[in-house]
Amino acid sequence: MDALTSQDAFEQWHDWRWQMRNRIDTLDGLRRWITPTDTEKTGIAACGRTMRWSITPYYASLMDPENTDCPIRMMAVPRNAEFVHGNEGHQDPVGDRTYLKTRRIIHKYPDRVVFLVSDSCPVYCRYCTRKYHTIARDSTYFKTDAPMDLEADFAYIRDNPEINDVLLTGGDPLSLSTGRLDAILGTLKQISSVGLVRIGTRYPVLLPARFDDELMTVLAKHAPLYLSTHFNHPAEITPEAVTVLRKLQAAGVALLNQSVLLKGVNDDAEVLKTLCRRLVSVGVTPYYLYHCDNVAGLTHFITTIERGRALMAQLSGHVTGFATPRYIIVTTIGKIPIDGDHVTMTEDGIIVRNYKGETLRVTCSALVHERSV
Ligand SMILES: *Cc1c(COP(=O)(O)O)cnc(C)c1O
Ligand code: SF4
Repeated sequence: MDALTSQDAFEQWHDWRWQMRNRIDTLDGLRRWITPTDTEKTGIAACGRTMRWSITPYYASLMDPENTDCPIRMMAVPRNAEFVHGNEGHQDPVGDRTYLKTRRIIHKYPDRVVFLVSDSCPVYCRYCTRKYHTIARDSTYFKTDAPMDLEADFAYIRDNPEINDVLLTGGDPLSLSTGRLDAILGTLKQISSVGLVRIGTRYPVLLPARFDDELMTVLAKHAPLYLSTHFNHPAEITPEAVTVLRKLQAAGVALLNQSVLLKGVNDDAEVLKTLCRRLVSVGVTPYYLYHCDNVAGLTHFITTIERGRALMAQLSGHVTGFATPRYIIVTTIGKIPIDGDHVTMTEDGIIVRNYKGETLRVTCSALVHERSV
């Protein structure tokens, strides 16, 4: 038999179907990339038949085989800490499921909805906020007593014309076939009350090869579109990822990034600064930095809000305004910005604090008091 030529190997590596078929989901498979630690081995064993884990060869190639604290490893390889959680963690702490109107539509804000079009991902990030939709095999966020067909989801959007903004997420929307995605985008486009369609996806990070010519043609056809990427660490901004971002920009797709603040991964001012600067340098606007949700089994990733605020204080003012994401905690009543210790209301004015910690009392009545009519 002919040996695989280097040209074949190159083509396979850049073929997303090959990457998906060859995802790493066994300890032996993982050993080809790193030497698993005890905590990783225990974590993998504990996943057993209840929790999914899988890593694309591409993402595995970003892991540092020597450094057991490698952020990519922490995000992708199960660890024992996932399974030693107290009762404080929840399966749905932000209440997404209580806002489910159809099988897949979460309607929590007046003018916009989340459309859960998928529950699968190329890599199962260990900190996933919808872990009980994606990773846990026996649970789902889908409203299971609602009609299965997407027609019911589209009907909900049509029947509620206050919905202007539809955010496709999951799981990952790009786990759908390109044809299916094309059909969904096409249907949304025909709903006149929908002015904005966004796709939340981690494929540029986990499997850039997914953006083949077929997918690019579909995205270009439906532009203008907003795509929210999900880079958490500068090591994820590889030349392959940057190539994809350029293609998306050329296709008329606007790029935002959402990150999650994760202990041991990016809870460091220099890491966050580098991440944000590199994102804007490749044309991606940092949008939100989420405080890690209190989901069962994520405890080891959760930092304190004080730490998050201290990190934000080292970003805002020190880096370009639009390179600074908003620091957000998601709650059952919606997203709450927690970067607000710049302004304190007092009896006789507003105390503003700049990025150097200098304060100023502002007493201009137009700013302090609501104008009486
Ligand atoms: C985050 C989110 C949105 C979008 O919110 P933006 O602040 O506009 O990005 C919409 N619906 C739900 C349920 C969400 O969690
Ligand atoms: S890609 Fe997103 S939805 Fe999928 S496992 Fe990772 S964080 Fe969760």
